[in-house]
Amino acid sequence: MIEKYLLPCPQCKATHEIQPSQAGSTLVCDCGEHLELPTIRQIRQLEPISAATVSEQPEWSARKGTILAGICLALLSATPGVYWVATWPNQPTRDVPRSIEQATQLIGEMPVDRSWLYWYNEIDIRGLAYSLSSEEVEYQQLAERRTMFCYASFAGAAVGLMIALGGAFMGPTTQ
Ligand SMILES: [Zn+2]
Repeated sequence: MIEKYLLPCPQCKATHEIQPSQAGSTLVCDCGEHLELPTIRQIRQLEPISAATVSEQPEWSARKGTILAGICLALLSATPGVYWVATWPNQPTRDVPRSIEQATQLIGEMPVDRSWLYWYNEIDIRGLAYSLSSEEVEYQQLAERRTMFCYASFAGAAVGLMIALGGAFMGPTTQ
């Protein structure tokens, strides 16, 4: 907070708010009197303006600043997360069975010669029932990365909201 003191005019007795940094300068009163401001030490011996009056303004600004910063951080953090969720890639589809249960069921419904061929071509040789296609591997890696980024994004947004809430509930600090 800035220290402020009251300097009375010797001519009209009006008081002027001055700061120690103004020491040595000249101030013109409304009555026309030129007031020579004393040294910093002498200024500090004048009547100070109460701390409550002076600190009111900066404290409210600090609070508003905290709330604003928190909201900005929340919005900035959440934006990519929302975008990533909105543009989530489609999971690639496949026409081969995903599980051994599905494969067994399919084979059970086929004539014996076809089921042997099916097993031979699709499951045994190509291993499609058990392994993932390159598109699926790509999708899984992308989905994992995106999930991580989304968590980070929403965690940042949560921190921003907490800062904003902290600012909103910030009580007046005692000097
Ligand atoms: Zn005056």
